[in-house]
Amino acid sequence: MSNSQQVVVITGASGGIGNSIVRRFHREGAKLVLLDLKMSNMERSIEDFSPESLLLECDITNKSDVEKARDTVLSHFGKIDVLVNCAGILSSINSIEEVEIEEWRKIIDVNLTGTLICTQVFGGVMLVNGGGSIVNIASMAGLAPSPKKAAYSASKAAVLMLTQQTALEWAGKNIRANAICPGFIETPMISHMIKNEEERRKRESIIPMGRLGMPDEVANIVYFLTTPDAAYINGDSIKLDGGYSVTTMPKIDSKGILA
Ligand code: NAP
Repeated sequence: MSNSQQVVVITGASGGIGNSIVRRFHREGAKLVLLDLKMSNMERSIEDFSPESLLLECDITNKSDVEKARDTVLSHFGKIDVLVNCAGILSSINSIEEVEIEEWRKIIDVNLTGTLICTQVFGGVMLVNGGGSIVNIASMAGLAPSPKKAAYSASKAAVLMLTQQTALEWAGKNIRANAICPGFIETPMISHMIKNEEERRKRESIIPMGRLGMPDEVANIVYFLTTPDAAYINGDSIKLDGGYSVTTMPKIDSKGILA
């Protein structure tokens, strides 16, 4: 399983999962391109390794930002082999009748449209260069509705279909597209759900394995999907949830807000 010397573009690179993905590919000798909203966060997340990595401030919802990033990558590395669409935002806890249209649009814009823009722009390079691999970070929320997370769930379900659509359209061009559906992964994104030990215990109690997932566990599967060992996996999604989706344990409380 080797991806050595591959050029790997990772969005949301300074986030909890993004940073683990960066480190995983770094261990394999890949040339890294980190994209995120704030340069200072990227510098912090990569400070003790890989000075040759390219760090680019980029809002994935802004197509000209992404095209500018692509041009910089091409002049620096000359190619793109792997794209990991990891940037994403979580909605606040809103029921269908409460969700503000402004918020709905923002979630769809980052999680879905941003993924499409990066796929078009960086995947466009793969089309010209004769192939590559794309991994989209979706969510278990895209496979089943989550109480009071309408916008997030809908955005991630759409990311799964976008993944399949990409796989279908680009299979003949030697580009594979797959997705990962993490459950609860210990990152800043879900820290508001586990503010204290009691909240942590409550959340862990609804996961058959009795613990949250770790960002490195997501990164390992992302890496695997881009290797020759996964050469025939295309248009698929892998659940990574400690058995959360197959359990019959109660997942919500009487107000419908635990999960
Ligand atoms: P995180 O720590 O909040 O990381 C998300 C990263 O995306 C942040 O660095 C954020 O930057 C960046 N970002 C947000 N909007 C962006 C934009 N418009 N352009 C470029 N970058 C942007 O969250 P995480 O937990 O690592 O999540 C990574 C991915 O996994 C997300 O797609 C998330 O939906 C998915 N996921 C997470 C979990 C979980 O339990 N953690 C479960 C299922 C799926 P700022 O910090 O500056 O906003």
